[in-house]
Amino acid sequence: MLKFVIIIGAAFLLYRMFANDQKKKKDTKVKEQVKSASRGEMVQDPVCGAYVSVDSDIRVREGDKVHRFCSFECRDKYIKRLDQGHSAQTESQTASAQKENA
Ligand SMILES: [Zn+2]
Repeated sequence: MLKFVIIIGAAFLLYRMFANDQKKKKDTKVKEQVKSASRGEMVQDPVCGAYVSVDSDIRVREGDKVHRFCSFECRDKYIKRLDQGHSAQTESQTASAQKENA
């Protein structure tokens, strides 16, 4: 019976430790995120606005700028947007070129 009580006690202590640890981790994570953002180690995902580490592998180079994304979904959305922007620009350039010719 004593063994049983000790096991319950140990399990409770472990649970308490684990719960505290989780809470601490969460707090530190948020603090670290804010800290790294101010240190310039985090960049904002231009699609959804989430903070992404500069080490993120999901990136798109656009001229001299490198954009980082939280997911491939966001990256694809951005690329799609870029493609649309470029085609729109090309169209307007063609239109103005035609005007100049006329
Ligand atoms: Zn995103």
